[in-house]
Amino acid sequence: MKPLRTIIALLIFIFLVSSAGMSQNQGPTARDPRIENILRDISADNIKHIVDTLAGFGTRHTASDTQSPTRGIGAARRWIKEELEKYSKESGGRLKVEFDSFTSDPQTMDPHYRSRLPKPTELDNVVATLPGSNPDSAQRIYIVSGHYDSMCTQMNNTECNAPGADDDASGTAVAMELARVMSHYSFDSTLVFLCFAGEEQGLVGSKHWADMAKEKQWVIPAVLNNDIVGNIRGGDGQLNNQTVRVFSEGVPTNETPAEKRVRESIGAENDSSSRELARYIVQTAIKYIPDFQVQMIYRRDRYARGGDHSSFNDDGYAAIRFSEYHEDFHHQHQTPRVEGGIQYGDLPQFVYPDYIASVARVNAASLASLALAPSNPGHVRFGTARQAYDTVIQWEPNPEARLAGYNVVWRETTSPVWQHSLLLGKVTEVSLKGLSKDNLIFGIQAVDKEGNASMVVIPKPPPPTRPARTANTPSQ
Ligand SMILES: [Zn+2]
Repeated sequence: MKPLRTIIALLIFIFLVSSAGMSQNQGPTARDPRIENILRDISADNIKHIVDTLAGFGTRHTASDTQSPTRGIGAARRWIKEELEKYSKESGGRLKVEFDSFTSDPQTMDPHYRSRLPKPTELDNVVATLPGSNPDSAQRIYIVSGHYDSMCTQMNNTECNAPGADDDASGTAVAMELARVMSHYSFDSTLVFLCFAGEEQGLVGSKHWADMAKEKQWVIPAVLNNDIVGNIRGGDGQLNNQTVRVFSEGVPTNETPAEKRVRESIGAENDSSSRELARYIVQTAIKYIPDFQVQMIYRRDRYARGGDHSSFNDDGYAAIRFSEYHEDFHHQHQTPRVEGGIQYGDLPQFVYPDYIASVARVNAASLASLALAPSNPGHVRFGTARQAYDTVIQWEPNPEARLAGYNVVWRETTSPVWQHSLLLGKVTEVSLKGLSKDNLIFGIQAVDKEGNASMVVIPKPPPPTRPARTANTPSQ
């Protein structure tokens, strides 16, 4: 096994050289005490209060009553806004809270969903923004979201009870609780806590916000969407209170033909930015919440279903969905009733605040790490020829003053997560002898002094070393 020994020796050498002058706490397992405090501050009691209050509005159907102070979508959105304003006051006014209002006309909607909205209706996303504290990074925006609308068995019935405790008061509670806790801390980048309207009408609230962000060319490196994150007991009796699923697309929805050609040529069908985000969350959870599992699912969403993160995928943003591990379909989109001895309905008694708090901690750790970390390394590419035995990766230096260095990571093509990580100093090139890009997938991430790492960026292919192929050149 001489070649293997050579590789190991070389890697140790690289590690010693490149990590010279760096302190121990910059490694990938170092925990930032600010993030540990945030995780400690997340309260299952406050999450329960949010879920119970939202369920108490009777229905939050998108076209339900807007005038009543106690029932319907109007009362619900006014309460969410007031609650977020209260959090803002508690944190010295640092959160900016507003409605993102627009009118949705069924005539312009996806025909599949048209019957769910009887008439043109005003929709209001509730948006809380915590501006970034570092002028270098404040233009980067990280999002956590849930949807606050609900529906009963009859999708266009605006009167029936639709408590929507799990779908999706649970996800709304994650976004609101993170707003409450994280507004007491400072992050380099901007955080946006979003409560979407109109999810059940075909993702119209999130589509409106994502399209607006795209038009304004906002930089949004990651969106964490929470939809149905409150139940631990499946309808088939299976129980799991320590796993959450993260759904991510493998091939970008909005990929151009040129991007498709590159992806196919380098085998990057498992390395979209959304999939890298899912991997980032898995590895952040291992670091901060080791007794809770994040299960990656290689799908944009559950089978033939959708959620608000898809609106961001459609516009080219990295976005994932969290959902509970086991679902109970008696408690989703069901008018509350007892039938054949079974209790139907999305009622608060079937959601578990402690479990939602765990999901909230996974969100918070990932969001805080990203918002404290340097930006993703730029212009990452291979520096060796296409046909080469060794691997050289190059990138442009990050601009952030707090940058400590970079991690080079790699994995087998069949491994779901990064298997190897090597901490480098403030370099812009790494050379890995005997490791072939034909057999492995590589990536680079930027790291700060507290060990907060950016998302991984995989290298672009090296430039052709031969004249470009013509129509007459046989392909290889
Ligand atoms: Zn939902």
